[in-house]
Formats: sequence, structure tokens, C-alpha cells
Amino acid sequence: MGPELGECQLIAHAVRNPARFFWRPKPGRQNPAWRPAAHEGRPESTPPVPRQVPVSTPRDPAVRNQLRIWQSLGFGFLEEVRAGETPGPAEVQPADFAPDMVVDWGPVLPLEERVPALAAIAAEVAGCQACRLCHGRTHTVPGEGDPMAPLMFIGEGPGESEDRTGRPFVGRAGELLTRIIGAMQFAREEVYIANVVKCRPPHNRQPEPDEMRTCLPYLERQVAIVRPRAIVLLGRTALMGLLPEHARAAMSAMRGNWLDYRGIPVMPTFHPAYLLRTESAKRAVWDDMKKVMKMLGKEPLAGKAKE
Ligand code: SF4
Repeated sequence: MGPELGECQLIAHAVRNPARFFWRPKPGRQNPAWRPAAHEGRPESTPPVPRQVPVSTPRDPAVRNQLRIWQSLGFGFLEEVRAGETPGPAEVQPADFAPDMVVDWGPVLPLEERVPALAAIAAEVAGCQACRLCHGRTHTVPGEGDPMAPLMFIGEGPGESEDRTGRPFVGRAGELLTRIIGAMQFAREEVYIANVVKCRPPHNRQPEPDEMRTCLPYLERQVAIVRPRAIVLLGRTALMGLLPEHARAAMSAMRGNWLDYRGIPVMPTFHPAYLLRTESAKRAVWDDMKKVMKMLGKEPLAGKAKE
């Protein structure tokens, strides 16, 4: 169904007032799409080389949905709002984040290319038999969420509910994660949620290191497409899977500290399933999520600390 009259007016308003509806990451280390302009450091006589413009992100979810409809109808120009014309929210550089290296993630895809690219990965996962976990699965669980999400949550692997439904984090732990996301002032649909392995390990055991290594390329491709501004790693197994150099570290020591995944800030924290067993850990997780919110330009609401 196409856009209605009111939606047309909304989109027209967004086009006339892009600053109200869009923001773009400011140049800086916290923005994985950022690279120093090629002319920086050159003599002034050297003509500047245009910097790649990152894809815009609508602020308002309603506008974002309407834009998708319009973009699917061929109105790709809505992505063409230029950086610098649309001041974003205040961004805070994580003081303790220092990327190990600058990584070329390749081009930033527009929305209309991200959707089929993520669907193609899901289709590959559905037929994957690359590791032993394929034998016990009911459904593969590739991941879900906003292809333009600024924030990505990554867990270790599907559990029983996820295996039954084919969706990530839908059991009790998933309900808690959804509440955490809500407390961070995001709708669940506005973030991207995935796991290191896409098939349920038998009896909910932890994925083995070789299983995670085998499955990791799918996740790497998802991250490259979504290009989040920050990643939250849920639990030590996910930390081991994505950043094996920290495999020996205790989660209690790693949580709350910014880590680097190929230039993207990563915040490890406790898994929601652990929070269901350990009420006292909720405060620590909320403290970690406040750091993520601060980086994304969001302020915690007063009295939103518990849960
Ligand atoms: S866990 Fe990953 S690598 Fe193993 S079978 Fe499933 S999709 Fe393939």
C-alpha cells in the first residue's frame, strides 16, 4: 500500500526541513564510517578529494518508516541530504575507546541495498551445514532489526525459544533485553539483534570455539552492512566469539570498558539470562548501557535505572 496524503505531507516536510528529521555522525573516531579526508595534511594547493558521505539516519521512527515506503517507490534522493547541512545530536567520544587500527569496511550501503543484502545472508544461513550445529536446529536464527540501526546487540547463540521461532532473544532473557533496549530509549525494531552462531547448540550448551569461528563470517557481514555506531556484546561467550583475544578475561573485569571491533566501539556486558539469575548485576548492566547511550547522544531518563 502506498503512502497516504498525510504521509506525503510528512515526507515533504522532511525534505524541506532535513535538520529536523536527519542527523549524520560527525567526523571523529567514534564514527566507523569516518576516515581522514585525503586532502588533510597536504599542501593547500592540492585539490581536496571528496570524502565519502555516510548514509543519513532519520531521527523519528515514524518518519523512518515513511521514508522506507518512499524509498521502495524509487525516491532514493531522500538519502542525498549532505553531511554538514544537518547538525546531529551531541556526540560524546568514549574517553577510554581507542581503535586498534583503521579498517576499511567498504562502501556504506543505502537502505534499499541493505535489506536484500541482509536477506541474502539469512537465506545462506538457512541452508548452511558448515558446522555440527546444523544437525540439531529447528530453525536458523540469522538476526533481525533495523538495517540502519546505530546500535547492535550480539549474543552467543539461539536458545530453545529462538530455535522454535527463528528469531533472536524472544525467551525470558529476550524479554528482559527488550526492556533494557526500551530503557535506552530505543524501540526493539530500531536496533539490530544477532548472535555469534546462528543455530542452537544442543541442550543450550555454549557454542564451541570452532563453531563460533565457522559461523563468524555471517556476523561479520551483517556488521559490515548495518555498520552500527556501537555494539553491545551480551555475555562472555559472545565476547569470546567476536573478540577472541579477550577469551581469557573475566566478564566482570571486561564489562563497562570500551573495546574495539575493527574500529567500532564495543561495550561488553552481562547476558540478560545472567541477570535473570543475578539480580544484583542489573545495576552494572545499566551503568554500561548508560555509557552506550551517552555515546549515542541519549540521556537516561530520571528514575529509569532499575529493571
Ligand atoms: S551455526 Fe552457523 S556455521 Fe554452523 S551450521 Fe549454523 S549457520 Fe552454519
